Amino acid sequence: MVYGWAGTILRIDLSRGKVSKTPSSEYTRLFIGGRGINSKLMFDESKPGVSAFDPENPIILGAGALVGTGITSAVTLQITSRSPEQHPEGFGELNIGGHWATELKFAGYDHIVIKGRAEKPTYIYIENDDVQFKDAAGIWGKGTFDTERIIREDLDDRRVQILAIGPAGEKLVRLATIEHERRSGTALGGVFGAKNLKAVVVRGTKGIRVYDPEAILKINEERLETIKKLLEEGEGESSIGADCNKYCFEKRDVGTVGYFEGFEWPELDKTNGAPYVEKHVVKRIGCYSCPIADVAVLNVPGVGISVMRCYPFFWPRLVRLTDMDVAFKATMLCSDYGLDNRNLLTAISWLMSLYDKGIITAKDTDGIPMEWGRADAIIRTIHKVANREGFGDILADGALNLAKKLGPKARAHLLHRRGMMIGSEEYRCDVGGALAAAVDPTASADHTVREIGFGVFWERHLKKLGKEKEIEEAYKRSKEIYGTEKAIIPWEYEGKAQMEVAEEKFSIIMDLLGLCYFAHACDPLLFQSYMVGKPIPEVTPMTLACFKATFGLDVTEKFLLTTAERTWNVEKAYNMREGFTRKDDTAYERYFKEPIPDGPRKGMKLDKAKFEKMKDEYYKLRGWDIETGNPTRETFVKLGIKDVADSLDKLGRLPKKKKP
Ligand code: SF4
Repeated sequence: MVYGWAGTILRIDLSRGKVSKTPSSEYTRLFIGGRGINSKLMFDESKPGVSAFDPENPIILGAGALVGTGITSAVTLQITSRSPEQHPEGFGELNIGGHWATELKFAGYDHIVIKGRAEKPTYIYIENDDVQFKDAAGIWGKGTFDTERIIREDLDDRRVQILAIGPAGEKLVRLATIEHERRSGTALGGVFGAKNLKAVVVRGTKGIRVYDPEAILKINEERLETIKKLLEEGEGESSIGADCNKYCFEKRDVGTVGYFEGFEWPELDKTNGAPYVEKHVVKRIGCYSCPIADVAVLNVPGVGISVMRCYPFFWPRLVRLTDMDVAFKATMLCSDYGLDNRNLLTAISWLMSLYDKGIITAKDTDGIPMEWGRADAIIRTIHKVANREGFGDILADGALNLAKKLGPKARAHLLHRRGMMIGSEEYRCDVGGALAAAVDPTASADHTVREIGFGVFWERHLKKLGKEKEIEEAYKRSKEIYGTEKAIIPWEYEGKAQMEVAEEKFSIIMDLLGLCYFAHACDPLLFQSYMVGKPIPEVTPMTLACFKATFGLDVTEKFLLTTAERTWNVEKAYNMREGFTRKDDTAYERYFKEPIPDGPRKGMKLDKAKFEKMKDEYYKLRGWDIETGNPTRETFVKLGIKDVADSLDKLGRLPKKKKP
């Protein structure tokens, strides 16, 4: 009897209109599920050098292993492909909640591998064992909002779950996203567009058999108690990310305004999300089996009805925008067009900073003056990128692409890693964050490893609250776990490599199992740490209990940690095969030269020599070659994936053996 897994990987060839099925068990032993199996499938099913928009580039959809079991917040879907957003292209992935992954498992599948290119616009409709290719002519060109509505009407089923692209993905905009319930992640929408694939729709009625349903109910009770406590403590009270600014500025000191130009801004309070949400919220919705239901549906007069998530509360300060209605409208537009608002809005921040410094004029942006906070500049740029018009056509291929045209000063001002824009937090005083971004195969670290913010201890905030005991305990734990108290001091380099490895493992385990990052604090052990940014364990007794209740397997902490490590090495192996090395594991160059101009971390900047030494330590801990920054044959073999080492060896991509 198989518990927990649906048991099947669905393989779809759009060029031939063919469908086949293989057992998930070929992969579960070494990779468990979700991100783990997706990553190995991506390595196995793709060929080196095949571009993101080539029909042969696979796109893989995979449910986390605990999804569909009813465990609170076990909901996430991993989408993996080659990222068109990166320059040069590399390993790409994103992780989203909602209902899609659960429905996939209820239909009988753990993962889907999609390859090829349909002859004409198509959407895939999966209803349990039945897989159909449906004509998408009527929805091609439509936004994602209309697309979802029309598909539901056509199929006469409100319960189908939909992943769809908007016009941006159809036009192969490199910043295009795949949307589900107005949520998305890094940009893989162009991969759907290049396959003439408008949407993947799923409906399942089979359910998932679990080993011990009673135990799952008990786990859920405990998780619910912790959620109640969390809400009582006043955390996570409004909606996802509505209080992000509060965390960044008041507690963690990593807030930044303009194009990463400082901490202080008198208008900051106007961008606070919580009051805006309270004013306009009409309903709170959540993902399957999650009582937190922290997604706020807003009805904003004169703008429309949609949801507000975390990034919309971050980006207004990056463009010095105080009118939150404009932020809401821009976010809606991005979601409807299917655009990565994180990368696009940060690109607009860069353009506004260039304009402010006199490096560009309105002539460079089709007559649009890119003044700080200017609403029409934001809205018109979104339209132009989505429709590939004028300078928007160049920006549609990424900010780095536009920077090349705007000249060396504009390029030097751009903070990016392989074309991926920096997130919204200050890394000059958070060296762990800078390391995370540097070594992440997706060149981003947002929503792949850097959710929890290990190493950004809230000491100043705790002092204000008089919580001296908490501070003392955090330092003690830092010393115990990472060998030094300095590990939890955000700007110190000592112990950071070790902490980064722990954070990566924690995040990957969440993604293997399909547990939502936002809800990680449902775990009582993690909750205590989440409140103050203290070191947390990568695996808790509750994680192991979830595994046992679902699969009936007594796994150890080591088993989960090793699977996480294996997954990370396979993701890295994809990029190794493309020729990536240590030189690609960079931080944002300007951050080594320009200090933070104001605020509680004034004067801090990254130190090149210390940063490179921290990378050395990180590679050593990972069992990677220090010179190339890549895993060695021995590391792959030790992790039980000799096949990956052999495949890289044939291409001459393994680090050379050092003479003893
Ligand atoms: S915390 Fe929010 S995003 Fe996470 S599973 Fe629950 S409702 Fe979904």
